[in-house]
Amino acid sequence: MRLTLLGTGDAAGMPVYGCHCERCVMARENPDYRRGPTSALLEIDDKRYLIDAGLMDIADRFPAPTLDGIFLTHFHPDHVQGLFHLRWGRGNKIPVYCPTDNTGFADLLKHPGVLDFQVLRKYEPLNIGELTITPVPLIHSKPTFGYLFEKEGHQIAYLVDTKDIPPRVEEFLREKQLETVIIDTCSPPGVENRNHNNLDDTLSLHQRIGAKKTIMTHIQHDFDLWLTDNCDSLPETVIPGYDGYIAYYR
Ligand SMILES: [Zn+2]
Ligand SMILES: [Zn+2]
Ligand SMILES: [Zn+2]
Repeated sequence: MRLTLLGTGDAAGMPVYGCHCERCVMARENPDYRRGPTSALLEIDDKRYLIDAGLMDIADRFPAPTLDGIFLTHFHPDHVQGLFHLRWGRGNKIPVYCPTDNTGFADLLKHPGVLDFQVLRKYEPLNIGELTITPVPLIHSKPTFGYLFEKEGHQIAYLVDTKDIPPRVEEFLREKQLETVIIDTCSPPGVENRNHNNLDDTLSLHQRIGAKKTIMTHIQHDFDLWLTDNCDSLPETVIPGYDGYIAYYR
């Protein structure tokens, strides 16, 4: 099993349009510092599952029929905007697993095209081959699922977008003894946002969930600036994600 972070930025992306902070200037000069919309790819043998669909070049990266499914965390544009042209494609339907959201985003649910939206229920596991996926509710301004992916003793939790997590989810994940948590960490310590974690929230969750490794994603440019000066102060087991980060689970 292989997990790749395809994007690790927030809705504004990195560089931020019109921003001349040190980090945005660096990102304009060197593509390595760019951050696309937060999303990931989970590969298991010859199967490929996308986690969120904010990238605008999904069709180029994953030509039909190489995508076996998409897990949507929620219907904010930075997580679904890449689906708007993909839906008018030809060929096999692509299962798109998602939470219940009566408004969804624009007319995506009304005109799904080749996208086969399948609503999941919280805590009800879905089995695809040897992979078990359990959706868990998060705390955000829209109905949002985090996902627990389990295969052959490997456990990965993907918790985006969220401000803290509900106590029941915390307990559920702690008992799983997770290998990796990928988590929304938008802002530097002390900067409050009621829809996203800051570093304080993430460090607290890292302790409380007890994962071996926590990888931060959905990173805003001001947090990137903070990381430039303070990255060394982080615990070794809490890592800022970057676009192209790969983790193997064997
Ligand atoms: Zn900036
Ligand atoms: Zn969101
Ligand atoms: Zn987002």
